[in-house]
Amino acid sequence: GKVLLTGGTGFIASHVLDCLLDHGFDVVVTVRSEEKGQRLVKSIDEALGKQVSFVVVEDIAKEGAFDNVLQSAPPFDYVVHTASPYQLHWDDPVKHCLDPAIKGTTGILKSVHAYAPTVKRVIITSSSAAVLNPPNHPKAYDESSWCDVTWEQAMDPQNTYKASKKFAEQAAWSFLTTHSPSFTLATINNTYTFGPIPRSLASLTTLNTSNHRIRDLVQGRMRDGIHPTAPVFTFVDVRDVALAHVRAMTVPEAGGKRFYVVGGFFSNPRLAGIVRRRFPELEEKLPAREEAEGKDDFPEDHWAFDNSRSREVLGLKYRGLEESVADTVESILRFEGSG
Ligand code: NDP
Repeated sequence: GKVLLTGGTGFIASHVLDCLLDHGFDVVVTVRSEEKGQRLVKSIDEALGKQVSFVVVEDIAKEGAFDNVLQSAPPFDYVVHTASPYQLHWDDPVKHCLDPAIKGTTGILKSVHAYAPTVKRVIITSSSAAVLNPPNHPKAYDESSWCDVTWEQAMDPQNTYKASKKFAEQAAWSFLTTHSPSFTLATINNTYTFGPIPRSLASLTTLNTSNHRIRDLVQGRMRDGIHPTAPVFTFVDVRDVALAHVRAMTVPEAGGKRFYVVGGFFSNPRLAGIVRRRFPELEEKLPAREEAEGKDDFPEDHWAFDNSRSREVLGLKYRGLEESVADTVESILRFEGSG
């Protein structure tokens, strides 16, 4: 089968790509520049001896951005849409975050509907941000939960990202109701994701947002005080997220469903504890033992999560925190060593 994977240079996409190649799919990725595309293709060739091709889609928010890409021979069987901005600071929330997230999502669905009738299923990387609804937490989160952030609240940069994910996912589901396309849809609502950094990464300063706290710990930025864990307390390993995308594509019953993909709880003190235990050579970069040990800073009313759908329908078995963190740190140290 042939798959179009958007945002190919991203952290999660880089693992989805590995997983797709591993399962024998032909993959075309979209990237934002020729240079990024060549870097990615070269890194896959060197590390895995496999071929991928790329097309440049500079801005997913542009009307018709995917029209040409989807008119491809041989035609596509699946589309995995991961591209969406994920940062914590926005100069212009609408232009830099909400537009690319929402228009990128509706845009690719429109293009598939118009030009790629062979596509059987589209997978969208949504987020737990579209599920979690602070401060009104239920006892346990599952796929029935939605974040109730409003468009008005989205103008506060603190809310922009989660709003972008919620509105983009909602737009996707309503596209299906309105247009009844021939493809089915599934969304992956993964939580805060840790894991080995992309091998085509140019610099640790452009590392994806959810790996920042592990990078910062390793680089000594929490030595004088551990940063607060808030606002997220659950994690998942990126390799489990990648497998979730591929299974959601291929498992027939996954069509029409969202999947809350979450591996467990974490706190920054637990991260520090794991790094201290597994990488004694980093001792001097870490916050003092007394400060870092046994002090989870979870809120008192912290919620539970129910990931049973992802285990039952997609067959996921989640990696633990220690494995995920240790492999992330190792990849960062390897990157620093090669620089
Ligand atoms: P990255 O920042 O590594 O990946 C984002 C990707 O989207 C990059 O390839 C980026 O390209 C591309 N992109 C962003 N804006 C645009 C745009 N306007 N036009 C074209 N491409 C664009 O982050 P992640 O891998 O973490 O995120 C991937 C997806 O996973 C996103 O949809 C994110 O919301 C979702 N997600 C992430 C979680 C996490 O904890 N990491 C948790 C839940 C969901 P470039 O780098 O070249 O700018």
